[in-house]
Amino acid sequence: MKNYLLALLGLVLSFTSFSQDGDILNPACREKCSMASLSARAQQALYYQYPSMDKYDMKYLKLDIHAEAGSLFMTGIATSKILAVQPLDSFITELKQNMVVDSVFINGTKLNFVHNSDFIQVKIPSVIPAGTLVTVKIYYYGTMGSGGVFTGTTSNGLTYTATLSESYQAREWFPAKQILKDKIDSLDVWVTTTAPNLVGSNGILVAIVDSFNNKKQYQWKSRHPINYYLPSIAVGNYMEYKNYAKPAALAPDSILILNYLTDNETYFASVKTNIDKTPSFIEKFSELYGLYPFADEKYGHCQANIGGGMEHQTMTTLSSFGSTLVAHELGHQWWGDNVTCATWNHIWLNEGFASYSEYLAVEKLPALFGGTTPAAYMQSVHNSVMSSPTGSVYVPLASTYDENRIFSSRLSYNKGSAIIHNLRFEMQDDNVFFQTLKNFQQQFKDSVATADDFKQVAETTSGKNFTDFFNQWYYGEGYPTFNITYLKQQSDSVTLIINETTSAPSVTPFFKGLYEFKITWVGGDTTVKAYITSNNQQFKFHFTAIPNAVVVDPNNWVLNAVGTITNGGVVPAKLLSFDVMAGATCNAVLKWKASNEQDTKIYEIEYSTDAVNFYKTGSLNSHGNIGESVYQYDQSLSNESDQDFRLKIIDRDGSYVYSTVISLNRKCSYAFSVSINPNPASEKLNLQVTQPVPGNVTIRIFDAKGSQVYYSTAYMNVGESRLPITAVQNFNPGTYMIKIDAPGGSTSRKFIKL
Ligand SMILES: [Zn+2]
Repeated sequence: MKNYLLALLGLVLSFTSFSQDGDILNPACREKCSMASLSARAQQALYYQYPSMDKYDMKYLKLDIHAEAGSLFMTGIATSKILAVQPLDSFITELKQNMVVDSVFINGTKLNFVHNSDFIQVKIPSVIPAGTLVTVKIYYYGTMGSGGVFTGTTSNGLTYTATLSESYQAREWFPAKQILKDKIDSLDVWVTTTAPNLVGSNGILVAIVDSFNNKKQYQWKSRHPINYYLPSIAVGNYMEYKNYAKPAALAPDSILILNYLTDNETYFASVKTNIDKTPSFIEKFSELYGLYPFADEKYGHCQANIGGGMEHQTMTTLSSFGSTLVAHELGHQWWGDNVTCATWNHIWLNEGFASYSEYLAVEKLPALFGGTTPAAYMQSVHNSVMSSPTGSVYVPLASTYDENRIFSSRLSYNKGSAIIHNLRFEMQDDNVFFQTLKNFQQQFKDSVATADDFKQVAETTSGKNFTDFFNQWYYGEGYPTFNITYLKQQSDSVTLIINETTSAPSVTPFFKGLYEFKITWVGGDTTVKAYITSNNQQFKFHFTAIPNAVVVDPNNWVLNAVGTITNGGVVPAKLLSFDVMAGATCNAVLKWKASNEQDTKIYEIEYSTDAVNFYKTGSLNSHGNIGESVYQYDQSLSNESDQDFRLKIIDRDGSYVYSTVISLNRKCSYAFSVSINPNPASEKLNLQVTQPVPGNVTIRIFDAKGSQVYYSTAYMNVGESRLPITAVQNFNPGTYMIKIDAPGGSTSRKFIKL
């Protein structure tokens, strides 16, 4: 796996080497930069970014815009303050070609510029030394691109124009340095529009200033670092609705939640319940992740049909107000906005974490989610991921211009969410898990991070190593399918033999990790955990009952499918063999071999005629040997049914296990049986013997001291015989034992002589 990572790093380096540094626009580069391995869509979206943009650092941006609801036309003045981190002989930024650039000023001087192939490039006559703060002012206008700017009228009466710049569409409406790692340190967005329409944007609404022709200028100010794709405007015939969140950490202060939505009472009534959940979400996430990062500004929603939601910093734009969508976009304020993925490869840090925020909202605020249980939510996430066998959460380099891949709901969102849940399970301590999130946010707030940065925080916080975890679940592909055999080898334990196959074995041949198994028995269950590192591992768990089923991952902690679950039965380790054979007469001969009997007290023989109800029919004491002992037990058969036999092996401590059940299909037309009467006897004893096979019957009588006092034999055919014993009249009064041995069986009876 490490080599795999190094290979990727090599790709990054070779990719950057395609770029040509610091030169004026070179449209031919687009062909030069195209890579055969990119998908058709990716190639279409691929565009060149000049490394010379890295010569400056975006410190401040002010957008002063005129825009109207329902129109894509705008005029704008973009003022940037940039810090030269290298000597600047040119300035380059991106703006789509369809926009018209009127003029460019650098430090107040109007300079010539080239606007070509979606870039504005300005040669700076005298090189500006590193460390200098430079002001760049660009006057522009035109019809904004429909890829990143949405306009229209909704069925509930909202006419809007709203932006959505992720991932490469900021340049459709303002000059942008579309490089994730350079956040704009602070932002002002001023929008002039026709009253009474409202304009939502980032940060705080500082002022609404009257302008010409019934227009008003909305002046928004944001003083938190913001990524290039997060400035936004939403212009519409909005009404305003406010909530306030009161996170405990901010008490007694509160956070304003500003909602701009269509001025339609029916619509408002239909979404108010969900909008009103936002304060609870902010309060809960502030508990789990650390205080809402923009508490000194606000949070808010602007309604607009942008085909879902977009987590604009402090002012989400969304088309509808589903509870999980509201939670998702809010979660982004921590994950995506305050901490942003450093490259699109690591979109997991935005979308996986925002998707897991949905899960946490469902888990922690169940009252707000009606019938949705956390388990059901995670099950549907798992189902989505496993609808296809391959694909990594990590976005491969070749796909970083492919928005379908970056925003794959199966991989970036659902698998991204599932593996965070899995990591939480691996930590086995929610305090550590949520402390990891808090530490990550504190270390990378107002900045960017990679998955490896998060991994390091997780490892430092938990003291655990997650290299295998990330190689399998983040960079790797697929999921495991489990095949489990469970069996009982000892009275006080159950053994699981665990095997897995994987859905993308050429990439990820095995998923090590912690997994849960629920072992059930008649009347109960218990859940156990196993850390699996290789196939065919055996795990022994304390368990006295006879297991009848195993459920893999009953609480949906880990992505997995289940293959076969096999009941290996009861196979006591000490019982080396156990056989039941038909005897020479109408009897069953049970033979078994055992060893390590130090703790074995007794073997009870149980039989059943219906394979359900077993009855004890005899027992043999254990020899208690360490080495092998051989046992034999003869059981006469008394009816015509099939008989099932098993041993109950009882330890000295009273615990026991059963052997496997062995059936004997042996039918007897007569069974050996003996009856004596009368008992007590005074003059004679009448013996009635039923004999299934012909042969000699031997009769012995012993007194209470065990001395033989009577002996006789008689030949008997099949059937019943009466054998009177008159000798008893001469016996002393007392208790006697009569023992009858015959080919069909043997038996002993006690009787009393009066
Ligand atoms: Zn999202």
